[in-house]
Amino acid sequence: MELILNIACGLIPLLYLLIYVVKENKKKKKRNYLYGFVTAIIIALILIVVRLLILNVLPTERKEQDNTTTTTTTEVTTEETTTKTTEATTKVTTKAASNYNYEKILNPSGGEVLGNTSKGYEVKKVNGLYYVDGYLVANKTYDLPENYNPGSLNSTVKAAADQMFAAAKNEKGFNMWAQSGFRSYATQKSIYNRYVNNDGKANADRYSARPGYSEHQTGLAFDVCATNKPCITNGFDNTEEAKWLSENAYKYGFILRYVKGKEDETGYIYESWHFRYVGKELAEKLYNNGNWITLESYFGLTSSYDSKPVGE
Ligand SMILES: [Zn+2]
Repeated sequence: MELILNIACGLIPLLYLLIYVVKENKKKKKRNYLYGFVTAIIIALILIVVRLLILNVLPTERKEQDNTTTTTTTEVTTEETTTKTTEATTKVTTKAASNYNYEKILNPSGGEVLGNTSKGYEVKKVNGLYYVDGYLVANKTYDLPENYNPGSLNSTVKAAADQMFAAAKNEKGFNMWAQSGFRSYATQKSIYNRYVNNDGKANADRYSARPGYSEHQTGLAFDVCATNKPCITNGFDNTEEAKWLSENAYKYGFILRYVKGKEDETGYIYESWHFRYVGKELAEKLYNNGNWITLESYFGLTSSYDSKPVGE
């Protein structure tokens, strides 16, 4: 693609110039080459701008697709790199463990207050995003705009996750990493459609979000994998790593998002690998001494494609 554009940028103005010069040469009087040169340069400049625009748009789309298609291959490399980096950062990060709070990521001002949840928490809509008591919510009731695209896992979330994985390495020797973090609307669309094709819509809806409803689009959630353990599948449920995460994630501001036996509340089956950042304060409340409370139950929210957000 880049090659074709480069050739086009050079060749089209040259061709134009050539034709122009030939035409002028046929005239007997008043040959004016300057006009042809200027026009050729203008054409070249326009083509260069078009080329830059095309090349800037295309790679981002390609990258998103790569994320989903190469999941299995990247597994091995991420594993290696996380092992190395966690070893290096363990000593540094364990000390600074305490400083990640939710306010560092989101403290939306303005927007429109829609009302209160059944538990009395304020629901606000800011730029198409729903905030409940200041926390960004994405579930089957509360969707995200198609164009909401933070582009990657939030940096605060990433740093907190690195600390959590370093601690797991330190305490237990576990090698864990965030396998799937941010997903764009387009990526979620292709993932969901693939599940629907393979498994039917009713089944797919139990474990995969429709585009615009995935918590992965917020950049605040990720799926954890561990060396030599089943990855993003219920085979992970009974591993030592899953147990550790369930008991310790809250210390780093994460919640086990889709709690076992609470599909009615969250709208999704149990996912021992999916964690969402909410900051330590709320995470500890939801951890509830090991008896996880769901975000929906805590705030009094629905998560169903049939119900509408509070006040809408
Ligand atoms: Zn997930």
